[in-house]
Amino acid sequence: MWYHCCLFFNILYTMDNRDQNDTFYKSKPFQDVFNLSRQSLLLKADPPLYTVMAVSDHCLSITRNAREKVLGKPLFEAYPGDTNDSLDQKIVQDSFQRVIDTGKNDILPVFKYEIYSEEENKAHTLYWSNVNEPVFDENGKVCYLINTTENVTDQMLISQTRQKNQELEEQIAAQNVVLEDRQHLFQNLIEQAPVAIALMSGPDFIIEVCNEKVLEIWGRTKEQVLGLPAFKAMPEARGQGFEELLSEVMHTGKRIVINEMQANLVRNGKMETAWVNFTYEPIRDRYGMINSVVVVCTEVTEQVNNRLKLEQLSREKLNKSEQILTTAINSANLGTWYVDLDTGDLLSSSRLKELFGLEPGDTMTVESAMSQIPEEQRQRVSKAIDHAINHGIPFDMEYQVMGKHDHVSRWVKCMGRRYAANGENSACFAGTMLDITERKELQRRKDDFISIASHELKTPITSLNASLQFISKMNKDTGTLSKVIELASASMHRVSSLIDDLLNAAHMQDQIVTLNTSNFSVQTLIDNAVNRFKLLEKSKLRIHGDLNLIVYADQYRIEQVIINFLNNAVKYAYKSDEITLTAERNSGNEIKISVRDQGPGISQEKTKYLFERYYRTDHDATQYAGLGLGLYISAKIIEKHGGRIGVDSILGEGSTFWFTLPV
Ligand code: ADP
Repeated sequence: MWYHCCLFFNILYTMDNRDQNDTFYKSKPFQDVFNLSRQSLLLKADPPLYTVMAVSDHCLSITRNAREKVLGKPLFEAYPGDTNDSLDQKIVQDSFQRVIDTGKNDILPVFKYEIYSEEENKAHTLYWSNVNEPVFDENGKVCYLINTTENVTDQMLISQTRQKNQELEEQIAAQNVVLEDRQHLFQNLIEQAPVAIALMSGPDFIIEVCNEKVLEIWGRTKEQVLGLPAFKAMPEARGQGFEELLSEVMHTGKRIVINEMQANLVRNGKMETAWVNFTYEPIRDRYGMINSVVVVCTEVTEQVNNRLKLEQLSREKLNKSEQILTTAINSANLGTWYVDLDTGDLLSSSRLKELFGLEPGDTMTVESAMSQIPEEQRQRVSKAIDHAINHGIPFDMEYQVMGKHDHVSRWVKCMGRRYAANGENSACFAGTMLDITERKELQRRKDDFISIASHELKTPITSLNASLQFISKMNKDTGTLSKVIELASASMHRVSSLIDDLLNAAHMQDQIVTLNTSNFSVQTLIDNAVNRFKLLEKSKLRIHGDLNLIVYADQYRIEQVIINFLNNAVKYAYKSDEITLTAERNSGNEIKISVRDQGPGISQEKTKYLFERYYRTDHDATQYAGLGLGLYISAKIIEKHGGRIGVDSILGEGSTFWFTLPV
């Protein structure tokens, strides 16, 4: 090949100098030689045609063309290039022109030129390297051009790929720098975080990242743990549950948050107990796989130790106060009970079981306890319990209980209240029970005595009263005797009303009162009461309201209630300028009658006891006659009528005693 090339140049230059006629180049010997040469084309310098004088086999092969389609043709007819892009031709034309103008070789930068393949019937984009050289005539004018073309598409593609690779490498390097910066930033953030943070990866929990705070908790230096499996770096942490929790996070992908977990760690060369709050957060890679866990942790040893100490102290205190309470309960012989309001379970002390006539081993339920209360009292007790639970008010009742095994009937005083749920304890209803059978028996005997005594006294007092009235009528004297008779009558009246109270109270207690009901107007009721009530100066009494209202009740008993209210108003509020009696129909479809005074009033804690038997309040040094039965009897009368009774009172301002009757 090398030989052919040298030969070609010798011939070309020699012949050119000798003969400028195209004949030489068209001659067979020249064409044969050129066919074999590495040069590609011999072109005539006849712009814009650049007629192809000779074309080498090599050129035809790389341009996929046939000699007859090229030889003797204008160059751009043989190789039209991309007909849509005139730039290709222009680059070549410019090069030819430069060679013609300067007489110097022109090396074209690698350029793209489309070659049409007839076989494949399509154009191929190929890259070419091109050198154009001049051939001079004897006058030194460029008359031919030798073009050497190389298809450098492969090299070009390789170099392009190389360039792209290089660009990619540069991009990757730039991204690596960014990543490194980010990693640095991330590490700084972790280092400076106010909480302990570590990152563990893989099945062995290799410690990838850890900050100073976490090292403090672990009691290790960075060199002792970084890059090591966590439980190799801290073997004492094995078997305390941490490994299992970490594995769970890795397998389930669910975050775990634990507060106040005990960790026994070798810190500062010795085993220490630390308390930690921590979160294990799974980290997923781009494929969603969990391979790392972030540990965020705070040491709370001091707080937990302080709390444990406090709990210990309060436990000790509680034990002590529990002991005191138990002693007090035992000494008072109190039964205790506790009902869990969520489950309804009843916890009972052995004393409570005794009160219900049960053996210590017997089970007691709320239902069984209720069934031991006599039927006639059961509903009242059950209602009061419901009321206390629903309204959170204290429960305080006296009732009977029938012993299960011993069949002994006991009177008990049961007190308790609802306690709201707190911490682990659910809401409950709890309290105590006291055996008051003896007290009840004494009271019964006292009541019996009072009942018999007052009964026995009633007959002589009635005849004494009649005698006094008779003496008073017969008496003509207006002096001392009259006064004595008047005083005796007043005393007799008081004694008589006291005995009436005692008898009434006894009847009320025994529930033997029957009502003699009829329809009557409030006007009649008030007139009669005021007439029966002699001690009140009429000028002091103001009557208000609707007196035409009709009441269906036992008139005599209702009058008794009003007289009792007026009597008390005169007795306890004697300084009142005015006593007001009001009758009205309220929105609850009831008739309400009230007596208001401007007396000393009664404190709130005492008002709830006013309607109990024998209850009397203190009135400084003042002594008032009475047994504490008037309001008790009134309450019983109103209760029997299905009405309500009560008092509204403000200390120092006065009291309003009232009752209602259903219409
Ligand atoms: P008694 O008047 O016989 O003591 P009551 O049952 O009628 O019995 O009254 C009970 C107690 O209520 C009285 O002892 C008194 O302390 C108080 N009380 C009743 N009415 C009034 C009132 N209007 N003002 C102040 N205290 C009163």
